[in-house]
Amino acid sequence: MTNNSLKKETNNSPLHKIMSSCYQVTGLVSLSYERPLTVKEQFLLKSHLAICAGCRGFYKNSQTLHKMMKAHKQHQKDTQKP
Ligand SMILES: [Zn+2]
Repeated sequence: MTNNSLKKETNNSPLHKIMSSCYQVTGLVSLSYERPLTVKEQFLLKSHLAICAGCRGFYKNSQTLHKMMKAHKQHQKDTQKP
């Protein structure tokens, strides 16, 4: 009885909901490079980044990586021109 009520409370906590979505958030970060995120997705991403340093670091790194990949692709395009 006590265990059940405690579990229910934890699951209903908004913080727990956000904290448990690290996997979802990293997916959204990748997705954001393929298509624009919806307002709901952006909200989820931003609110999670505000409280999760781990995902914040991942987001920053992925942005840098994405920029480098983009620059590299552009470089390849330029050098491969006939
Ligand atoms: Zn996270």
